[in-house]
Amino acid sequence: MRVPALSLHVQGPQCSRLVIGAWRLAEWRMTSEEVLIFLNTCVDLGITTIDHADIYGNYTCEALFGAALQKEPRLRDRLQLVSKCGIKLVSAHRPQHQIKHYDTSRAHILASVDNSLQQLHTDYLDLLLIHRPDPLMNADETAEALMSLIYSGKVRYVGVSNFTPSQFELLASRLNVPLVTNQIEISVLHLEPFLDGTLDQCQRLKIAPMAWSPLGGGALFHSSEIRAKRLYSSLTEVGQELGGLTADQVALAWLLTHPANIIPLLGTGNLDRIRVAAIALETRLTREQWFKIWSASTGTDVP
Ligand code: NAP
Repeated sequence: MRVPALSLHVQGPQCSRLVIGAWRLAEWRMTSEEVLIFLNTCVDLGITTIDHADIYGNYTCEALFGAALQKEPRLRDRLQLVSKCGIKLVSAHRPQHQIKHYDTSRAHILASVDNSLQQLHTDYLDLLLIHRPDPLMNADETAEALMSLIYSGKVRYVGVSNFTPSQFELLASRLNVPLVTNQIEISVLHLEPFLDGTLDQCQRLKIAPMAWSPLGGGALFHSSEIRAKRLYSSLTEVGQELGGLTADQVALAWLLTHPANIIPLLGTGNLDRIRVAAIALETRLTREQWFKIWSASTGTDVP
């Protein structure tokens, strides 16, 4: 099974239908050689888009990835690299930060992207996202910074993450290019985007949303909470109806069945789990199966 690509927006960019999330890369304890084997296997599967952020792994993941890419620079052209900026962590790697906060100022965005490019050993990002809505965001200033990154060629496309529809519209109103995605938490354990207008907006604008923690960050498998256990049973039952799919495959197929072209960001570094996820791409649930899982999540029938 080769994972296909789709366009996040009518103007681009191309993105693989499943994306590798690099948030946990430092936990995977891979050498550069192992990262390269991992990446090449993903590329062979058709998974070519990698999601980063400046802060992942306490500011270390981009450098781990970049050290691997430096050993095989020709791999860069086969990948789409996404990164984010706008969160400032208190960290030994950033001793000047006194308190965790957001910063969408021009100076921070430009400095953060320059640093990401250096860490990743690349001269452009396919996509830059503003990581979190910033209550102090000056939309004119943030938009101007994003446009200047596009004009300089350092960033090809821009988008946002965790934005409400009105926050999205405010920033979009100041840009001469589209925001091509909103990267949000969506899973059988996190239903809010289906109800709060976020996915409606994505469909209206014909942009594909990216779903972070599509398996609840692993809570579907490890949590002792009744809701997670109920969901796991429901996913397993539907998997049996579908000919023996696993709970993780059904949880992904549940997202893929939605008409908004939701793109799951896989958080595992386990290639077997990634191969299993790729098989889910061929599966669509019936309405009854989809609502059975919805009701297992809410704990009640729909009204
Ligand atoms: P996830 O895929 O929901 O969770 C990954 C976790 O689930 C890993 O610990 C993984 O363990 C475990 N897991 C996966 N399949 C499993 C299975 N079959 N059985 C048992 N455990 C399983 O995604 P996530 O890592 O939370 O998030 C994915 C990506 O979204 C991140 O890497 C990041 O790129 C992005 N993200 C973005 C934001 C944002 O604000 N924009 C926030 C959070 C995350 P193993 O490693 O052992 O497989």
